[in-house]
Amino acid sequence: MQLKILGSVSPYAHAEGACPSYLVCDDGLKLLLDCGSGSHRFFDMKDGLEGLNIIISHLHRDHYNDIFNYLYASFTLHNLGLLKDRINIYLPDFPQNIYLDIINEKNAFAQFHTLKAGKDLEIGGAKVSFIEVEHSKDVKTFATKIQKGGQCIVYSGDISYIDAPKLARFAQNADILLCESSLLCEHGFPQICNHLTARQAGAIARQSGAKALVLTHFWPEEAREKYKAEAQLEFGNVILAKENMQILVGEVERGNGFLCREF
Ligand SMILES: [Zn+2]
Ligand SMILES: [Zn+2]
Repeated sequence: MQLKILGSVSPYAHAEGACPSYLVCDDGLKLLLDCGSGSHRFFDMKDGLEGLNIIISHLHRDHYNDIFNYLYASFTLHNLGLLKDRINIYLPDFPQNIYLDIINEKNAFAQFHTLKAGKDLEIGGAKVSFIEVEHSKDVKTFATKIQKGGQCIVYSGDISYIDAPKLARFAQNADILLCESSLLCEHGFPQICNHLTARQAGAIARQSGAKALVLTHFWPEEAREKYKAEAQLEFGNVILAKENMQILVGEVERGNGFLCREF
C-alpha cells in the first residue's frame, strides 16, 4: 500500500498546509481518511474520484470540512459524463445535525454509510476495521485499521490520552501507525485538550510494536522537528507527515525501510 499525505495541520489550513487528510492506495484500493479544511487542494479531483471511498473519523470541522467539495465535484463530473460510479462516504452518525446535513446533500453523486465499531468493511480488497475512541463529548470518534496483502496501516483519528492503551492494542504490529500529535509536552495539560502529545504518540508506537510512526495533526506555526525530537524519546522510527509526501509501505518488507518521496 501507499500512503499519501494531503493534510497534516490543525485547527486551520495555511498556504502550504491543510487540515488532516490521508490517501491510502493500492491495486483496486483508493481510500481517503478524513478530508479536513483545504486538503482537497492536494487531491486530483478530476481523475481521482472514480472508485473513491472516504472515511471520516469524526465530525469535527478540521476532519470533514472539505467533504462538500468532494460531493459537489462528484455531482458535476457525473453530470458531465466523467464519473461512472458513486463515491462512497463512511461517517459517524453523531452529532446528528452534521450527519444529516452531509447525507442529505442533494448535489452529490455518492452513497453514504454509517460507521460502527466492530463492523468490519471490505473495501478494494482491504479489510477495514474500527474502534470507537474517547476524544470529545460532542462527537463520536473512530480509529481505523486497513489491512491488505499482509500490510497494515492504523490511523488514530483524534484521540484522548485516556485511550492510549486501547489504541496501542488496536495497532499491534502495524507497519505504520499514523498518529495525531496535536501537542508538545511544553504546551502542558494534554488532559484538558483530549489529544496526544508527541511523546504519548511515541509511547503508543513502542507499546504496539509498530514498525514506523508517522506523526501528524501539528499546530500550524510550530516547528515540526520539535514533535520528532519528543516522540523519539520513546520510539526510534519517526516520520513527520508533510503535504504531498508519499510513503511506500511495501518497501518495509523488502528491508529498505520506508521510502518517502515529496512531490
Ligand atoms: Zn477532533
Ligand atoms: Zn482534529
